[in-house]
Amino acid sequence: MPPEPFFSGAGLDRADLLRGQPERIAGLASDRAARQLRWLESFPVLDGEGRLEWGPVDDPALFLGFDQGAPRFSALVPASPADVRAAFAFLALLDPNDAPILAAALSLTNWHRRHRYCASCGKPSAIVRGGWSRKCESCEAEHFPRVDPVVIMLAEHGGRLLLGRQPHYPLGRYSALAGFVEPGETIEAAVARELNEEAGILVSHVTYVASQPWPFPSSLMIGCTARALDDRLTIDTTELDDARWFSREEVAAALAGAPNAAFLPPPPYAIARTLLENWLAA
Ligand SMILES: [Zn+2]
Repeated sequence: MPPEPFFSGAGLDRADLLRGQPERIAGLASDRAARQLRWLESFPVLDGEGRLEWGPVDDPALFLGFDQGAPRFSALVPASPADVRAAFAFLALLDPNDAPILAAALSLTNWHRRHRYCASCGKPSAIVRGGWSRKCESCEAEHFPRVDPVVIMLAEHGGRLLLGRQPHYPLGRYSALAGFVEPGETIEAAVARELNEEAGILVSHVTYVASQPWPFPSSLMIGCTARALDDRLTIDTTELDDARWFSREEVAAALAGAPNAAFLPPPPYAIARTLLENWLAA
């Protein structure tokens, strides 16, 4: 089995069929087995093992679904989204088994905080469907939690991989290039456009590898590989500090944590890491 990205897995039974039944959801909130995710400011609370902590239900605004038949809720959290460093520190502690639940709960609560008004008419909207949509109280337009597709990709040329450095990366880190899919674009076109914009290369054979929800705040990372037609780079220095080709040996040494490795690889919870591991294993 090839390695799977962090945030993979079934998570909770989302019980979509119940979402349109507010009385049933209210009944579930008073079920003896019901639990609510505990939050401290921008993140859920973790126990000493990195598992999500659950407590009594006192604000069942968001119905997350069932964990082996037991109802699970989350509250509306007023805190602002955390910055990227706080997010990475949190992910480093989180047990991978709870990552899919975290992804859903975090994206959902951040979406509600930022979408309290109708995007059509500007009037207040209300939570419906157990927290999985909002309905305008004036024009009745329904709005759904957003998911923003992002392509993230490895370009290959002559057995070497293209990786880049963003300005905010820790010293020495290189990772896969990435960018948002634009309206009217296929995944393949977005991969080709981003690689051309950021590194000045043309590619063919775009191939899907794996995907990963990334709840900061609502991305879906779509991991791909592509073949570069040549290896001459023209780097967009407004997006990247640097981009370089790395050999198979250099990638293997970096993933193994070799002290003299050519670069510091992306962290284990990043899909870029999974793409590199898959490429090495292939
Ligand atoms: Zn409206």
